[in-house]
Amino acid sequence: RAKQEGRNTYRLYSTSMDVHEHRWLAMETALRDAIDSGEGLSLHYQPLVERDSGRLASMEALARWHHPRFGPVSPGDFIPLAERSGLILPLSRRLMKMVAAQLRHWLDAGLAPVPVAVNLSARQFWQFDLIEQIRSLYQEYRLPDGLISFELTESMLLDKQQQAVQILTALRQLGCQVAMDDFGTGYSSLSYLHQLPITALKIDKSFIQQLGESQGSETILAAITGMAQGLKLTVVAEGVETDAQLDALRRYHVNLIQGYLTGRPIPAQQIAERYLINESR
Ligand code: C2E
Ligand code: CA
Ligand code: CA
Ligand code: CA
Repeated sequence: RAKQEGRNTYRLYSTSMDVHEHRWLAMETALRDAIDSGEGLSLHYQPLVERDSGRLASMEALARWHHPRFGPVSPGDFIPLAERSGLILPLSRRLMKMVAAQLRHWLDAGLAPVPVAVNLSARQFWQFDLIEQIRSLYQEYRLPDGLISFELTESMLLDKQQQAVQILTALRQLGCQVAMDDFGTGYSSLSYLHQLPITALKIDKSFIQQLGESQGSETILAAITGMAQGLKLTVVAEGVETDAQLDALRRYHVNLIQGYLTGRPIPAQQIAERYLINESR
């Protein structure tokens, strides 16, 4: 009803449904403003470290939004909101630019950055000029090959594996690593996994957090890591929180660890201070 009668009339209705919708509309407007101005939007970076040496291998860029009235909004809320409201493309473009600018900043400061992984949403992955956008970003910010990498999920590729292979191949030709995120939670079609030119599997944190609690989670871990090894894929364990989990992960073919145990997502300044090597010193 509110939609039919125009936005100015929504206050006339007081059912909880309308209150709920009102909040989402207000948030959508606020998100649009944040994307336009860049205000309140930032990125945190979480380290991915080598399991055995603990050395920093790469990091994941995770979007953060702080609004003066709504406070900090979780990406678990505002990313789906952006997807529903058509804001995901401008938001993603803005975030990707922020990553590129950050990398340029670190390079200029004499730091040796590691590749930063960006989460791709489905709409972004299937955008006709994705490859062109990435290519021009590398050019504009004069970034060495491969410094931006990507994470995507299986559900994005459903029924379109042939077309997906083409996009992934183009990404690889740009020198970019590509990880399959949240692996094990989606509609895993193992039959086509070997046809996708990806470079890493990220085992979803739901499996990692059951380690030591359920025998089944270890059985699945053994199967996934065995397969990944056969396919020569880097294996990332995500959501590692305890030493017990890390110990369990040592029994399998796991290359990289990402989780609160080895490092939380933190602002760029802190990640640089704690992890990046200054080459000019
Ligand atoms: P994701 O891609 O699976 O990202 C990993 C999430 O796990 C992040 O949540 C991270 O903070 C959290 N995490 C890392 N280590 C641990 C741990 O040890 N324990 C627990 N419990 N959690 C851990 P976050 O930052 O809240 O992001 C949630 C989701 O929002 C992401 O899940 C991703 O799907 C989406 N997202 C975040 N930033 C972006 C972005 O820039 N673009 C897009 N398209 N999606 C994004
Ligand atoms: Ca991710
Ligand atoms: Ca994930
Ligand atoms: Ca996830």
